[in-house]
Amino acid sequence: MLILVTNDDGVFSPGIRALAKSLCALGRVVVVAPDRERSAVSHALTLHSPLRAEEIRPDIFAVDGTPTDCVNLGVHGLLQERPALVVSGINRGGNMGDDLTYSGTVSAAMEATLMGVPAMAVSLDGESFGSDNFNRSARLTLFLARSIVEKGLPPDTFLNINFPAAEPRGFKLTRQGKRRYGETVVEKIDPRGKTYYWLGGGEMGFDNLEGTDFHAVHAGYVSITPLHLDLTNYRSFEQLESWGLDAVTDFPAEPES
Ligand code: MN
Repeated sequence: MLILVTNDDGVFSPGIRALAKSLCALGRVVVVAPDRERSAVSHALTLHSPLRAEEIRPDIFAVDGTPTDCVNLGVHGLLQERPALVVSGINRGGNMGDDLTYSGTVSAAMEATLMGVPAMAVSLDGESFGSDNFNRSARLTLFLARSIVEKGLPPDTFLNINFPAAEPRGFKLTRQGKRRYGETVVEKIDPRGKTYYWLGGGEMGFDNLEGTDFHAVHAGYVSITPLHLDLTNYRSFEQLESWGLDAVTDFPAEPES
C-alpha cells in the first residue's frame, strides 16, 4: 500500500519525519512536502510558475510549492500508483476552529479529498514540540490511519486530528469550534523610519464549548473532527429565503450617468 505524506512546515520539520517513520508500518511511504515552511498558505495552488521537485533522499521529495501543490503533483506526477491514503502533518501547533481556513496542513487533506483519496490532517497543539511529543502523536496517527484503511471514511469526508500537548486521555469525535482573534496587527517603525506591520501579533482565545475541537484538546483528548468541503450554511436558508430573492424579476435599472 502506498501512503503520501505531506505538511506545511516543510520537508525538514521534525513532525513530518516522525509521521513518515511511523506510517512505514502500514505500507510504502512517499514524502512530497514543501522545501521550506509554508504555514498559513491555505489552499493555494501554483498556476503561474513552474514547480520543481527534488528527490533529496529515496522517496522524499522537496517541492518549491504549497502543500496543495505537493498533493496535486504527488498524485498526478511523482507517484507511480494512486496512494491509498494522504496524511498531512504533524503540524507544529494546533489547527482548530476558524484557524482551519488558513491552514496549509488541512488544505493538503482537502486537496486529497477533492481527488477522491482518503485523507487526514494531523496537528500537535501546545508549545512543546520535542521528539517525544511528535513520536507519541505519530504512533496514534498510525492507529487512526489503520482504522481509515480498514473501515473506510464516509463519502467526501476527511479527518482533522489535533493532539494535546500531554499524554492523551483518549479520542473524542468533535465539531469545529470558534476562535476569538485578538488585536492582531502590530505597527512598528523600521530602521529607515518607515512604518511596517506584523499580522497575528495579538493574544488569541477560543470559545470553550462542549463538543468542539478546542474543548476536547484542552481537556487532554485527541480531537477528531470529520470535515467536508461543502461550506454551505444550511441553517441560514430559512432567514435568507424570507428576502424573497427568487421572486424578484424587475431588476434595478442601470443608473443614468
Ligand atoms: Mn504549519
